[in-house]
Amino acid sequence: MEVVTTVAEARARLDAARHRGKTVGLVPTMGYLHEGHASLIRRAAAECDLAMATIFVNPLQFAPGEDLAAYPRDLERDTAVCAEAGADLVLAPPPEEMYPGPVLTSVSVNELAARLEGVDRPTHFTGVATVVAKLFNIGGPCRSYFGEKDWQQLQIVTRMAADLSFPVEVVGCPVVREPDGLAMSSRNVYLEGPDRAAAPVLHRALCAGRHAVERGERDPGAVRAVMHAVVAGEPRVRLGYAEIVDAATLAAVEPLSGTLRLLIAARVGPARLIDNLGVEV
Ligand code: AMP
Repeated sequence: MEVVTTVAEARARLDAARHRGKTVGLVPTMGYLHEGHASLIRRAAAECDLAMATIFVNPLQFAPGEDLAAYPRDLERDTAVCAEAGADLVLAPPPEEMYPGPVLTSVSVNELAARLEGVDRPTHFTGVATVVAKLFNIGGPCRSYFGEKDWQQLQIVTRMAADLSFPVEVVGCPVVREPDGLAMSSRNVYLEGPDRAAAPVLHRALCAGRHAVERGERDPGAVRAVMHAVVAGEPRVRLGYAEIVDAATLAAVEPLSGTLRLLIAARVGPARLIDNLGVEV
């Protein structure tokens, strides 16, 4: 496995591979890798001839006051995880390589970005879509692997690739969880003792919401209330939202029908956590 830090080196490796008839798999990450990231890299390595992971904490997707400076970083360990998972190439650019000057151009995926996470983080998904557009242009024709953990992000990136005709097939991969149900996240390092113990309530709330739908509940307000009640049982956890929406458009559905997604966001101590679960009616 080779680690490169410039866009030119990454492009040269990928172009050379495609020239030899090889397929490329791209796995964008912000580093501090865990088993969730490793599952994406393993899948890219299994399905493509050359798998490239990128490690870049993207300043554009953090608002002032968010955890950009504190975001955990450990490049040495990350490259070991990438190698172990079967990556052939890692691109780990410094910020000035990705953004040599002020960014005047951005990508906005309008309605999809305004809902859910977008309510409290109005600039977040423009930052995400802009960096992913850059990574798609660096990666070139490829399959690109994203986790369902960030469900809204997955829908936004899928839509952006279609709307802007990127030669990229976006592949969604299942959420990897701790044994107690907590979705793996780089931000879980912020969780200490009692906060870590309280955090699986997000997954329990989603399961309770899904169970209500499976038992026949078709009123989204009632499903939201079920999730709120579960979270209320953990006083350490401050709920942001708990919603059930159309899985692809993220729009409200009433009465509930079709392919749906339950999504939740909450603060647990210093960490802001998100999670989601699917249900079919
Ligand atoms: P991040 O480093 O948090 O930006 O995540 C990079 C990629 O890994 C994104 O596509 C995430 O959705 C995915 N990812 C993060 N956590 C998980 C998880 N627990 N299970 C599956 N994919 C994940």
